[in-house]
Amino acid sequence: MYWDREAETMDRGKLESIQVERLRETLRRARKSPYYGKLFRDAGIEPEQVNSVDMIKAIPFTTKDDLQAHWPYGFLAVMKDEVIRMHASSGTTGRSIVVFHTASDIAGWTDVLARSIYMAGMRKDDVFQNMMSYGLFTGGLGFHYAAEKVGALVIPAGAGNSKRQIQLMRDFETTVIHIIPSYAIHLFTVFGELKVDPKKDTKLKMAFIGAEPHSEKMRKKIEEFYGIKAYNSYGLSEMNGPGVSFECPAQSGMHIWEDHYVVEVIDPKTLTPVPDGEEGELVLTTLMREGMPVLRYRTKDLTRIIPGQCECGRTHRRIDRIKGRTDDMMILKGVNIFPLQIEKKLMEIPGVGTNFVIILEREGNEDSMVVKVEVQKEYFAGDLKQLENLRKRIVEELRSDILITPKVSLIEPGGLRSTEGKAVRVIDNRKE
Ligand code: AMP
Ligand code: ZN
Repeated sequence: MYWDREAETMDRGKLESIQVERLRETLRRARKSPYYGKLFRDAGIEPEQVNSVDMIKAIPFTTKDDLQAHWPYGFLAVMKDEVIRMHASSGTTGRSIVVFHTASDIAGWTDVLARSIYMAGMRKDDVFQNMMSYGLFTGGLGFHYAAEKVGALVIPAGAGNSKRQIQLMRDFETTVIHIIPSYAIHLFTVFGELKVDPKKDTKLKMAFIGAEPHSEKMRKKIEEFYGIKAYNSYGLSEMNGPGVSFECPAQSGMHIWEDHYVVEVIDPKTLTPVPDGEEGELVLTTLMREGMPVLRYRTKDLTRIIPGQCECGRTHRRIDRIKGRTDDMMILKGVNIFPLQIEKKLMEIPGVGTNFVIILEREGNEDSMVVKVEVQKEYFAGDLKQLENLRKRIVEELRSDILITPKVSLIEPGGLRSTEGKAVRVIDNRKE
């Protein structure tokens, strides 16, 4: 049941001594990059003196802005001819950030992601359909190599082309898929149009879902519709991509692989550590990377360490599902709201479909929120009163949670634009 029993179940003392050793080595390597070289000189940081993980706190945080400002090679810690691949984050604004990998980086990443998917239950006899974009985005190639390493038959389907995806699933008896949750949900309608029932007409048993925030309810909807288990997969390009943190069969949080990453959770305002169990911003340091070590990276992702041990026997700590990003938070009439809060509420209401979008408007000095949400098609066929009652109920449920009365409009299934990449949940028209 373990890909690498020793690595996955080593006692915390051993894990910490490995971390110290790898941290020292990481700092030695990082010093060779123009960015950290200067930073270490200015701050008087001596990698050789590091003898505890806690000493990491002497190093300043690294932010996305730092990576962007030193684009493209400012963080490169090896000669260019050592690099065999680059990836980039899927940022939609500004210049994306790039990450360079040596052969050993790719091998390390592949192994830790193979560990993750093996942990969830994927094996050599599985047929794995990778429905993620195979470009600069890490979800395509990253999973591809990890699944090959496990020995599964890999179908590099890529993103989009929904009907063909379903055809591939049926023809080649796909058992495991890797898919963005909002796209998994979008496919409900396509399965319907084709009159294919994934529970009866496919051999699917498992999905890896990740790359964007999603609620427990959303997971349940996916699991029920496809008749599968769906495992949460978390990662970011700056830390390789997927394989940073992954759910085990206990589905009670994602193990974060501490032999590859140092994990900190901080208060994003005061930048001080928060105790285990409390929510904050995840900060990560690579421990295995040669080409481009990144130290104390502020991910902007909000989560918490789940205290206590997991029943599966792995000793690496767990993080809770990502609540959102610090930069996703909407402030409306002084109230802080995360898109995931809205999703959670919507998913609890029977009859509500799965796709939604939040639009923020400003009229004069007054901000308002419009929530457009798809609901089941029966509502449009029947009594209009029923539709209006559902709309009122949604307004009321949202108001009770976010303390703001949104305008709600109900849309027929498939009526909202959906993407094959990460879903766009908020359109803010308040900005000029
Ligand atoms: P990228 O580097 O473009 O792949 O984007 C990484 C970002 O996607 C992370 O920093 C998170 O904000 C988000 N993300 C990735 N996986 C998950 C997940 N399982 N749950 C929530 N957000 C995720
Ligand atoms: Zn576990």
